[in-house]
Amino acid sequence: MPSNLFRSSLGEARALLDRRQVSSVELTRAVLDRISEVEGRVKAFVTLTPELALQQAEEADRRLARGDTSPLLGIPAAIKDVISTRGVRTTCSSRILENFIPIYDAGVMERLNDQGLVMVGKTNMDEFAMGSSTENSAFFPTHNPWDLERAPGGSSGGSAAAVSAGEAIYSLGSDTGGSIRQPASFCGVAGMKPTYGRVSRYGLVAFASSLDQIGPFTRDVADCAQVLQAISGYDPRDSTSVNVPVPDYSKALVPDLKGVRVGVPREYFVEGMQTAVADRVRAAVGKLQELGASVDWEVSLPHTSYALAVYYIIAPSEASANLSRYDGVKYGFSVPAENIWEAVSRTRQEGFGPEVKRRIMLGTYALSSGYYDAYYVKAQKVRTLIKSDFDKAFEKYDILVTPTSPTVPFRLGEKLEDPIQMYLSDIFTIPVNIAGICGLSVPAGFVDGLPVGLQIIGPAFGEEAVLRAGFAYQQATGWHKRWPPL
Ligand code: GLN
Repeated sequence: MPSNLFRSSLGEARALLDRRQVSSVELTRAVLDRISEVEGRVKAFVTLTPELALQQAEEADRRLARGDTSPLLGIPAAIKDVISTRGVRTTCSSRILENFIPIYDAGVMERLNDQGLVMVGKTNMDEFAMGSSTENSAFFPTHNPWDLERAPGGSSGGSAAAVSAGEAIYSLGSDTGGSIRQPASFCGVAGMKPTYGRVSRYGLVAFASSLDQIGPFTRDVADCAQVLQAISGYDPRDSTSVNVPVPDYSKALVPDLKGVRVGVPREYFVEGMQTAVADRVRAAVGKLQELGASVDWEVSLPHTSYALAVYYIIAPSEASANLSRYDGVKYGFSVPAENIWEAVSRTRQEGFGPEVKRRIMLGTYALSSGYYDAYYVKAQKVRTLIKSDFDKAFEKYDILVTPTSPTVPFRLGEKLEDPIQMYLSDIFTIPVNIAGICGLSVPAGFVDGLPVGLQIIGPAFGEEAVLRAGFAYQQATGWHKRWPPL
């Protein structure tokens, strides 16, 4: 049996399983052993499910023996704790759902289970996916495998760290304003936010419903195409799921970029970002050019600078409505009191952390009578302008490339007291959610031993072009093959 089995990519693990060189149980044990070795330092998981994983691995081995060729069959994975898993605690890293056990599976879980999922656990996150460092978890922060003193990014920091540290071969996260791409960048793995409507949100605990999407974290772009393939597709239970055919994403993966038109928006190289990060990203764009792409370095998306402000009206507004369901009556944490008003208010006071409360208050304010037109309606109008910037750009370019994050991973604690600094961490990822389009982050090198991410943005349902560029880039560079010094 190959040593360091936990380091296998999905593609490598698939080949080992299909050739019967290892069993799913052996692969799963290797990953569980790795978790025992490093989890005390990384803290990627809220809940570990080793017995379930081994049971699923045994079942996967039986399916393999019957000649089942499902692409994800028997591969150990981790799931962000915002995705509903039947019978397995789903907390959103919040006190208010600390003991909540869902009675149904999310749409993506049904799809993964059909393929023979092996789930090793549920991953830590910022409470209700609000944050950029995983420090807003009500339980504990997750540590970046590249430097344990630093943040893994967020909100899907646990899912990113798990793949980076070898604690899962792939994972799922959710991305409302960058929560897959930014932690992927910080942890040196691939992470993709699919087009809004591509992946079912059924059973994804809602943060900001017009922005949320589920997507994969993987070791490389070929794996990303596989996982995206498995979770994509129409689901009538999500009213915003779009009924368009799912292409064969792996077919898009060719090693050159001949004929591909790449745009580099100048608004994404801003003052205040780390110059070393900008340099790495420019070098990556140079590589795309070498691979045959034509590059226009002077693209403009003029409304970009409003994206953060628009997001911090729309996302909290939707959150304030979505989170009104946590009243201590229907489910979750509950504080008994004299009367219902007192009970609801004490439940919410004790059940939610400070960032969640901040968002609920911001959103309630933006939606309140007299302010609704000035804030919410105006933000929706500017949202349309941001989207039309992208629509125009995609008439001329197949993909746009930018840095994923303005900085390398920051230190734990560094931005915790300053929400605005934390919000700025998503300045390059948020516009993609506002426009409902797709984006991928791939490792593009290191600054002082810390990973830098390249963001590849595509139009709505343009995942193939994005994956193709990421794949070609990875064929020509080896950044994604490095392992953190854990
Ligand atoms: N960091 C952003 C926020 O705090 C985005 C989070 C996300 O994508 N879920 O809202």
